[in-house]
Amino acid sequence: MNIIEKNNFLFDNVTTLKGVGKQLSKYLKSKKIEKNNDLLWNLPYSFTDRSESVPLNKLEVGKILTIQIKVIKYNFPRIRNLPNKINCQDNTGKIDLVFFNSREGYLRKILPLNEWVVVSGKIAFYKNKYQITNPDYITNLNNVDYVKKVIPKYSLTEGLTEKSYRKLIEQILIRLPPVKEWHDNSFLKKMNFPSWKDSILAVHNGNTAKDFNSNAYRRLAFDELLSHLIVLSENRKRIKKFKKKSKKFKNSNSENILKTIDFELTNSQVKVIQEINIDLKSTNKMFRVLQGDVGSGKTIVSLIAAANVIESGYQCVLMAPTSILANQHYNLVKKIFEASSLKINISLLTGKTDYKSKNKILENLSNHKIDLIIGTPALFQKKIIFKKLGLTIIDEQHKFGVKQRIDLSTKGGDECDVLLMSATPIPRTMMLSLYGDMDISKITEKPLNRKKIITLSKPEEKINELWPLISKNIKNKNQIFWVCPLIEESKVFNYSSAVKKYEFIKKKFPNRVGLVHGQMSKDEKDLVLKNFLEKKIDILVSTTVIEVGIDFPNATIIIIENSNKFGLAQLHQLRGRVGRGKKQGMCILLYKKTLSKNSIKRIKILKLTNDGFIIAEEDLKLRGFGDLIGFQQSGVKNFKIADPVQHEDLFKIAEKRINEINDNLENYNEYNFLLKLFDKADIINEIKIN
Ligand code: ADP
Ligand code: MG
Repeated sequence: MNIIEKNNFLFDNVTTLKGVGKQLSKYLKSKKIEKNNDLLWNLPYSFTDRSESVPLNKLEVGKILTIQIKVIKYNFPRIRNLPNKINCQDNTGKIDLVFFNSREGYLRKILPLNEWVVVSGKIAFYKNKYQITNPDYITNLNNVDYVKKVIPKYSLTEGLTEKSYRKLIEQILIRLPPVKEWHDNSFLKKMNFPSWKDSILAVHNGNTAKDFNSNAYRRLAFDELLSHLIVLSENRKRIKKFKKKSKKFKNSNSENILKTIDFELTNSQVKVIQEINIDLKSTNKMFRVLQGDVGSGKTIVSLIAAANVIESGYQCVLMAPTSILANQHYNLVKKIFEASSLKINISLLTGKTDYKSKNKILENLSNHKIDLIIGTPALFQKKIIFKKLGLTIIDEQHKFGVKQRIDLSTKGGDECDVLLMSATPIPRTMMLSLYGDMDISKITEKPLNRKKIITLSKPEEKINELWPLISKNIKNKNQIFWVCPLIEESKVFNYSSAVKKYEFIKKKFPNRVGLVHGQMSKDEKDLVLKNFLEKKIDILVSTTVIEVGIDFPNATIIIIENSNKFGLAQLHQLRGRVGRGKKQGMCILLYKKTLSKNSIKRIKILKLTNDGFIIAEEDLKLRGFGDLIGFQQSGVKNFKIADPVQHEDLFKIAEKRINEINDNLENYNEYNFLLKLFDKADIINEIKIN
């Protein structure tokens, strides 16, 4: 039997366990526990000490104790809602066991009259008597050792007791066979890692609270990181095998563009353009992500790539996350291409394109009358036939997970290179785990003329001090973003607070204020944003829907209400909405009176630096990576136990390790069990098939 067969029970549904019926499996599902191996990764976060035992004359109220008592008398009231009560005693004193929602027959069975039993629970004192309400354990004397000890504490949902959960996890732990290691012995030794089985048993052993830094925990976290990197690595290897024709161009298109734009490229932009050009000219398919902070100038880089690809005789797609951004890109591209007298046919395809025009566009894509099509991803889900697609560019792609990238890498055909662009600054630790299947280009500097955005903070009571500032800016033809608080998760609440604020500001600046929020239709939103872009209004009140990369060169001030509710990276993204033109940008962080230590730190960091990468690192430290903007859907959020803050060193070691493995291995067969443990087997199969 191989390792997977021996452990096959781990991948069965939890309903195969004794005691898991319909109801319990529903509860478990709500905790994302569906298969037995899910139980392995639901680690205890603390423990309950039931090891203390005293005679009844030594009871202490509020303590969890395990006592041995004799059942003396039943009191089963005939009135509904009154609890059942059972009087018990030992040689030194008395205690009552009190039960709500219990059946008489059941109590008679587990607590037979005149017998001694073991009971564990929290001691209370009520009407002059000790009592335990709904004891956690009741068992006969033979089982005292099962109860009287330190017991792991799992985060449980309603409907799941410690006792019933314990029965489940124990069914798993007891069956674990020793497994053949996937790590070298020498590596395990060097890292002080226990064997897999010992590690699992150790982290589920109740004697310590959850300890990220125990060797057992670290070993399992490392396993998880490695399994994740193996997936990315497989995808990368697969993409590297794709062969394509080299794209031939002499930069004549792009040089024309560079002559017409009114700025010089930064060194960083020049460097990433070179990296992209090498990829385009090579016979390997490009699968590259372009990372650059907000305002670092990614758009022009992508246009130059597109111009080169078009010069080499291919078509390009540029996808933006929203139709307003697609529109903006389209207008910009049109302006630049026209000014450079390039004979490039471009077209815009969004949800608003009417049926007839859409059909014409589709026709022109299939006969190569269109060189560059700009639009939203929704439109590209259906099959569009290109005559000769050579490059797909995806802007603001931070919502793409590993699975979507696997699809993306094959879409568009053999000749199609792929360039993703993201403004989400990624802490260094996370780079490979996020983009391990891609090549990475980074724009590390902002355009020289860019002024540092001035960042101020103000308590909300001083909101009146803002009106003169706003009036002055409106007079100077500057525009203002007003971001409303995300007080609750509830969308309705956000929406109403934005509406209120809008009404309030509108009174002060009649006819100059617009509102966008998540409850508006796309068309309504787009209209307001268009009005703002065309300067028909000066102040845009919004919830965070303005986050995506729209360029409002005329916006100079962003006011963020209740700023302490946002994470650092998110505040930075919001701030990046202003100061993109030549004018000085300003960000005003409004906060409620009481600020937590972390909030104060966040504001401090924002005032100190405009560098998204530094901010990302700090954000990671302050909030943990789960809250980093854009990570929710990235797949990395789905780590079950590894944690980039606690295990920074393991991330680095895993990167090294995956390279060593790749140098020495033909395939990852040895890691099959590991991959299955962390639910990676399906995705690996998908990679192999595609
Ligand atoms: P992002 O990287 O956030 O997508 P954009 O590409 O929208 O940034 O660029 C932001 C602004 O900076 C645009 O108005 C663009 O024209 C301008 N820009 C880009 N590169 C430079 C540069 N090298 N020098 C000056 N301005 C630049
Ligand atoms: Mg952009």
